[in-house]
Amino acid sequence: MSELLPCPFCGYELTEADIQPDEQSWWVDCSGCDCRGPDRETMQEAIEDWNERRTDGFFNWIDGELAKLKDDGHPDYSVRTAHRRAALLDCQKQLRKLLNGMGVQ
Ligand SMILES: [Zn+2]
Repeated sequence: MSELLPCPFCGYELTEADIQPDEQSWWVDCSGCDCRGPDRETMQEAIEDWNERRTDGFFNWIDGELAKLKDDGHPDYSVRTAHRRAALLDCQKQLRKLLNGMGVQ
């Protein structure tokens, strides 16, 4: 397999164990900070997209995670969930900042 570049967010050195398959797709899932790359049909494509820093996957992943954390007023909506939400929003902000720095809109 091709080498995986370190995570752009947390610097974690990824290994083969960070490449995840299910029945339909492959993706790279950082063990360091939990961010993930885009879903692709093959392991090779998932690795290439991770290494190319394709951002659609990161934004989609963040949006999906945020959607799961909607505060529905249930008492189980805990402090921990609020922390998770803040971390995701921070990740989104960092990503935008990173892209702006690279001249990407
Ligand atoms: Zn990471």
